Amino acid sequence: MPIIRVALCVPVDTLFDYQAEDASQHDIGLRACVPFGKKQVTGIILAVSDETQIPIEKLKSAHGIFREIKPLPAALLDLFHFCSQYYHHPLGMVILNGLPVKLRNKKPVSLKRKPHQYQYSLTSSGKNVALTQIPARNRIARRLLSEFQQTETLTSLQIKHISPRAEKLLQDWIQLGWITAEFCLTATAVRVAEIPVLTAEQEIAVNAITADAKRFNTWLLHGVTGSGKTEVYLRIIESVLAQGRQVLVLIPEISLTPQLEGVFRARFSTVPLVSLHSGLNDTERLAGWLQAQRGEAKIILGTRLAVFTPISDLGVIIVDEEQDSSFKQQDGLRYSARDLAIFRARQSAIPVILGSATPSLESYHNALTGRYRHVRLLSRAVQNATLPLIQCIDTRINKTREGLSGPLIQALDQCLQKEHQSLIFINRRGYAPVLLCKSCGWTAPCQRCSSRLVVHLRDKKLCCHHCGHQELFPRACPQCGNQDIAPFGQGTQRVEETLTAHFPAARILRIDRDSTRRKHAWQEILHAVHTHQVDILIGTQLLAKGHDFPNLSLVGILNADGALYSTDFRASERLFAQLMQVAGRAGRANVAGHVLIQTEFPDHPLYQSLQRHDYDALAKTLLAERKMAGFPPYVYQALLRAEAHHIKTVLDFLAQAAQLARPPQAVELFDPVPAHMSRLKGLERAHLLVQSSSRKHLHAFLTGWYAKITALPSQKVRWVLDVDPLEF
Ligand code: ADP
Ligand code: ZN
Ligand code: ZN
Repeated sequence: MPIIRVALCVPVDTLFDYQAEDASQHDIGLRACVPFGKKQVTGIILAVSDETQIPIEKLKSAHGIFREIKPLPAALLDLFHFCSQYYHHPLGMVILNGLPVKLRNKKPVSLKRKPHQYQYSLTSSGKNVALTQIPARNRIARRLLSEFQQTETLTSLQIKHISPRAEKLLQDWIQLGWITAEFCLTATAVRVAEIPVLTAEQEIAVNAITADAKRFNTWLLHGVTGSGKTEVYLRIIESVLAQGRQVLVLIPEISLTPQLEGVFRARFSTVPLVSLHSGLNDTERLAGWLQAQRGEAKIILGTRLAVFTPISDLGVIIVDEEQDSSFKQQDGLRYSARDLAIFRARQSAIPVILGSATPSLESYHNALTGRYRHVRLLSRAVQNATLPLIQCIDTRINKTREGLSGPLIQALDQCLQKEHQSLIFINRRGYAPVLLCKSCGWTAPCQRCSSRLVVHLRDKKLCCHHCGHQELFPRACPQCGNQDIAPFGQGTQRVEETLTAHFPAARILRIDRDSTRRKHAWQEILHAVHTHQVDILIGTQLLAKGHDFPNLSLVGILNADGALYSTDFRASERLFAQLMQVAGRAGRANVAGHVLIQTEFPDHPLYQSLQRHDYDALAKTLLAERKMAGFPPYVYQALLRAEAHHIKTVLDFLAQAAQLARPPQAVELFDPVPAHMSRLKGLERAHLLVQSSSRKHLHAFLTGWYAKITALPSQKVRWVLDVDPLEF
């Protein structure tokens, strides 16, 4: 009897064997429901064989194989395999977590489709079928065929009208070659976009990439903000669609999907598009996934998880804002969707385009060394639009009051008078407002994390932004009894209050995680901004990312200095990218842009490069520093992360793991250290860094080490290997 070898979502890196009498090689990639312990679970069949190591009396039988959807394609299974090996994560968990939740259920999925979605046409052999070939008692089939022979094409809805049971017959008829089915879009009215004439730089980029679209290449599309990278994507997508192939577009933030989706729908109004992101419910997600797998959806737009979508005929992958750290998953399987996208492109022999105004130093380095192909857009696309003027306000001279300096207030005032929009950007990394006792220096800590509680002024609450803990403001300082405790540092709410006091007539809109949580919140905000119902926007990181605000002329930046002297070696790179991006929001169309940075260090090289819009100068300086210090991209790193209730347990575990390690000479092993957030959600955290200038040596070492750590007697420690870590 055939044996199926099944990957299950369990934390051990093996496959499980079951008997399945009806299994064949065609079932590889299908789901099977199998007994596991006392439970029934669903897994993916990765092999069918007639041998097993399991003694026959212990071998269990599968409950069943689900065949209602096509098996996962071999290329996707290869991607999962690679991902499991590269990130040292059990294969079954990689696969099952990469699939829509509904496919992990213990039952077949129901494939109800919306009416209208299909149009069926009679083929020439269908035309030759005589009605009498169908037995007279099959009245519905006869009626259906005669309808087809009269009109040649019928939609799902028309077929339903003939009989609710008619559509079932169609699958057989498709098999017989009598009819073909074509997915068609429900007619939604879309505004058709005007297609701009490419700028000379855009044209060079498009030509270079499309001329070499038949093989694998990683392209770094490196274009200043407003240089029209989107238009370059659109032209490349157009040429891929013209060949009938599919397109995968990965973006960092779910909040960017509506905007980009709108752009795509306007340009390709008749092309089926699905967007896959965490804002969808399970049914929507499955529907989108299936449309991609069946080849019906031609454009697949999504956040990092979309990199695992089965796509039958992929022609190009685009990763927009490739430097964004959201492409890296920060728990469980810590994969980088950007890096997996590159793997996928190589596997499919197609181009992958990494777009950015401020590429990650890794990608920039690869472009400089010729491993990636570098295409640049140095000027803005819109005629006469120039890059914004960036200046620093020296806050040692221009003291701030409530976080805002005199020159910034004046600039805001002028902007309001001209009826232009402005944006105040607050860099929150480590700089959220806290409650401070001015007499003893006490600040409110989170009891479960090594972080301070953040002041939420509106509801007079203190919140932990890591674990969600909330409490009310204390009446007095718990340490010294002082009653004069006040918020310190600028939060969005505080700045909003100050600005309201300064400009009572201005329409101010604050944007943060709270105000964007609701469904459609982003669309409403963008609409308000685009229709000029807002004068001043206040926001954090969220606002920096790729939104196009055509009326924005002034950007004020608060609290950026913190990252200049951070212990995190990536802090400067991130700050630069972020400030370039926010600065890029200003002066996008016909309005000249002005950016003011409040800082105590106006002469810092980072701000100097920023003022000159000189990414290359800063990137080269940072690369030289990284090379000297032995940091990525000159070395490859992995972290063994561990957490437990007691720090001793964690450190003991890491010490044990270090003992087992025996790294070869090419691999360097560091001592265990507490994580940057050394306490999180009540758990103590520490890690151990391993690095090597050879990726090959590092991975060979990790494979052996991982197996040894797994074999350690079970401890009360949660651990994971984080390959190419971004956060420490
Ligand atoms: P980026 O993503 O590079 O920052 P966008 O793609 O958002 O830039 O483009 C910035 C603006 O330039 C958009 O308003 C876009 O419509 C416009 N644009 C792009 N290409 C052209 C072009 N060839 N001619 C005129 N306007 C263009
Ligand atoms: Zn005190
Ligand atoms: Zn907390």
